[in-house]
Amino acid sequence: MSNFHPSFPEKVLIGILILAGIPFTIHAEKVGSEITLISVYDNYQVDQKLKTAWGFATIIKTPQELILFDTGGNSEILLSNMKKLGIEPSSIKKIVISHIHGDHSGGLEGFLERNSNVTVFILSSFPEAVKNMIIQKGAKFVEISGPARISNSIYTTGQVYGPPEEQSLIIDSKEGLVVITGCAHPGIVNIVKKAKKIMKKDKVYLVVGGFHHPPLSCIKAFKELGVEKVAPSHCTGDLVREAFREKYKENFIEYGVGKTIEIK
Ligand SMILES: [Zn+2]
Ligand SMILES: [Zn+2]
Repeated sequence: MSNFHPSFPEKVLIGILILAGIPFTIHAEKVGSEITLISVYDNYQVDQKLKTAWGFATIIKTPQELILFDTGGNSEILLSNMKKLGIEPSSIKKIVISHIHGDHSGGLEGFLERNSNVTVFILSSFPEAVKNMIIQKGAKFVEISGPARISNSIYTTGQVYGPPEEQSLIIDSKEGLVVITGCAHPGIVNIVKKAKKIMKKDKVYLVVGGFHHPPLSCIKAFKELGVEKVAPSHCTGDLVREAFREKYKENFIEYGVGKTIEIK
């Protein structure tokens, strides 16, 4: 049984997933499984033992696997933070890159030198040089255009124009939708609206990631969209982040490197 009704052609999705070698079922067997988000790269800091740098990377831990969403700008910092958190690079089998900017994709090459036994979900608009690099390192890639399933209960919005093109992740959790953004160049409010539309669900439990210094009016738009919790970091901007903290009170989550969020 599934309440996921894809609003995109099934054939395209099947094509993408066969390419990735992922066992495909349109009926998610376990909608709403327990998921943990771990920030491994951010310019905001939660754990003083970890290094900060401009960029974003978050690990999504599901009961089945670990997915790395973005790689930050520097693989040494990424790998050092992961080591301090006790996360083996070899435990990652999938990497999703939100967009081409260096503070999200810069750590990819160095990561693949440590572990190339991964599938990288990139955008079809990415330069050939990036695709060639992934192959050269011995990894596989999947080109994302429209919305697609990445893992059990984890989906991509598909590429949405900013500029540049960007994809965000959607987790279909028991608590509601969780939207994870890299830089949110297409607009954070647009991305949340798109996530709701793709999943045909109304409850947004959490929005986390870089919000790309939106206007303060986005807080009101979030409330109207029914966003329950927020964890803005990376490129949100201090002013907007503090305004979110003030308005969301106990539903504001301080996100930054070393932070863990458990979603039941
Ligand atoms: Zn960017
Ligand atoms: Zn960024």
